[in-house]
Amino acid sequence: MPIERTASDPGIESSDSDGYDAVIVGGGVSGPSAGIFTARAGMSTCILDRGPSSLARCAYLANYLGFPGGIDVSTFRALCRAHAATAGCRYLTDMVLEVRRKDPGDGRDSNAEEPSSDDSKGGDEDEVRAEGRASGSFVVESQDGRTIETPRVLIATKDDTSYLEALGEGAMFTEASHGGETHRYFDPEYVDQEGRTPTAGLYVAGPLAGCPDQAIVSAGHGARVGFAVIADWLEDRGYPPALARGYWDWLSKEESRDENWKAHARAFVERALDENDEDASEGRIEELTAELQAHTDALFVRSEEVERRRREGHRRLLEHIDDRVIKAYLDERESDE
Ligand SMILES: Cc1cc2nc3c(=O)[nH]c(=O)nc-3n(C[C@H](O)[C@H](O)[C@H](O)COP(=O)(O)OP(=O)(O)OC[C@H]3O[C@@H](n4cnc5c(N)ncnc54)[C@H](O)[C@@H]3O)c2cc1C
Repeated sequence: MPIERTASDPGIESSDSDGYDAVIVGGGVSGPSAGIFTARAGMSTCILDRGPSSLARCAYLANYLGFPGGIDVSTFRALCRAHAATAGCRYLTDMVLEVRRKDPGDGRDSNAEEPSSDDSKGGDEDEVRAEGRASGSFVVESQDGRTIETPRVLIATKDDTSYLEALGEGAMFTEASHGGETHRYFDPEYVDQEGRTPTAGLYVAGPLAGCPDQAIVSAGHGARVGFAVIADWLEDRGYPPALARGYWDWLSKEESRDENWKAHARAFVERALDENDEDASEGRIEELTAELQAHTDALFVRSEEVERRRREGHRRLLEHIDDRVIKAYLDERESDE
């Protein structure tokens, strides 16, 4: 599976209408956090971001782990955005106006099981998803005129969900009265702990889903929902549930690689197939073992690569730090020596 790719933020391109494995609405904290994982897992992921932002209203982030002096919001937003783009997300400054089910007029019934995104790229039609997962395609319409198709939409817009009304799922909204007026709100009860909803293929992350309204919790929740999206995507592609839900994204030191890891991978696959009473033919075991081995193989890095990444990581951080602060810091150090 691809581990790191880069992406820019171009204008409207034909690839927008080709669709994505996942579209994330909202590029604050929870959205990019989910996108970093989905893109690194190999899912084509698009993040759209424009409109009311909770993060933008925050004066200064003093309680986000890893920033001992806190961090200003615009630098933090730029870091989140750069990170998502480096992971492979297509990050578009554009606002979603409507999310709806794909029109059945093109021969596909919006209520019927539809091919997964992989099927649409010519995959095996037998590899269908479990019932209740991404069984229909969504169409995402944007302010700048984009029309994007996707089987999975992840909602990460804490302050606005009006664009979901076209789905016609009244149960996702609740009403409350303030000052004599009745307002409609997204109902967090509509979302389960991993961000899934009764609308197949629709996920919700961040405080909108009911998690505590803090940036770091939103990031953690976004990641968690990202993993639910990945698990469902892998199942849609025919992976046994135990393998799909056991997906991980770690980099490990090459020296710590167990020489029996290939045998472990095979045992893991056999157990996963057994647990779900699935086809455990030699061919199937070998196919899944080879994929798992390839995935694992890419996650081991040599010490030189760790060092290269360390330097690159520091350099990428410096890109976001005020040049005058860097210069003043270096001058100070020089005068101390
Ligand atoms: C005044 C204030 C101060 C805060 N201070 C702190 C603090 O000090 N520390 C802390 O931990 N937390 C703080 N928070 C909470 C923190 O900002 C939120 O928990 C966090 O930002 C939620 O992340 P999110 O990504 O779910 O939503 P958001 O940060 O709101 O991000 C949503 C993103 O979606 C975009 N968007 C909205 N609608 C659309 C649409 N239709 N199409 C496309 N994009 C859309 C927005 O532009 C935005 O970028 C504060 C919040 C407020 C309001």
